[in-house]
Amino acid sequence: MTDSEDNFQTNREKIGIMGGTFDPIHYGHLFAAEEARVALSLRRVIFVPSGNSPHKSYASMASAEDRYAMTAVAIENNRYFEISRIETDRTGTSYTSDTLRELARIHINADLFLITGLDAALDIPNWHKPHEILSLCTVVVVARPGYIRDKIRELDDIIQDSLLILDTDLIDISSTAIRRHVRTGECVRYMTPDPVWRYIVDKKLYSRTEA
Ligand code: ATP
Ligand code: MG
Repeated sequence: MTDSEDNFQTNREKIGIMGGTFDPIHYGHLFAAEEARVALSLRRVIFVPSGNSPHKSYASMASAEDRYAMTAVAIENNRYFEISRIETDRTGTSYTSDTLRELARIHINADLFLITGLDAALDIPNWHKPHEILSLCTVVVVARPGYIRDKIRELDDIIQDSLLILDTDLIDISSTAIRRHVRTGECVRYMTPDPVWRYIVDKKLYSRTEA
């Protein structure tokens, strides 16, 4: 490697991408992003709330704007965390492959690290254009309660070889559980940052049955 090539490599910025429906965002997402940021010395983590998700739709789903707003208030006290409207503003189905291609174009001198929970990583074969995603970023896998890490060995070798698996602590919170708590009148405070909890109450989100 020449000196200039070496320089080019080391000057590349490492950016984490935390994608999700974030319906709502919770401490599991925030903890995963922070663990990955510290473990991999990421310069920043960009949260990308999904727009119209190809995978999810149910009666009580919050709008893309509400999910964006909750994500924005949840990350505001971490100076390494940012948020992108890239999927919020996209009309039609948003695919992670399109998002990554766009982010790679914007951040031309960066290496992208897509942070995912183990549940999402085990589902990679069902993602839209999984091999394109793997060519655009390193998929970083964090632990998720209820999912067994060894199951990764059942993925095909090309996928397995491109994963970066972190040994993180478990946070047993899901957006599904939060929505269920709200629906049944239980408190969701301390599952998610206070501004998110207040946003849910103010906007009366998640009161309808999930169909
Ligand atoms: P839902 O219950 O609606 O599916 P969720 O809690 O799984 O919501 P998502 O928005 O689906 O949240 O997840 C976005 C990303 O965050 C995924 O990669 C998922 O694996 C990861 N993630 C979500 N919750 C946790 C958690 N508690 N620990 C680690 N990773 C998590
Ligand atoms: Mg999920």
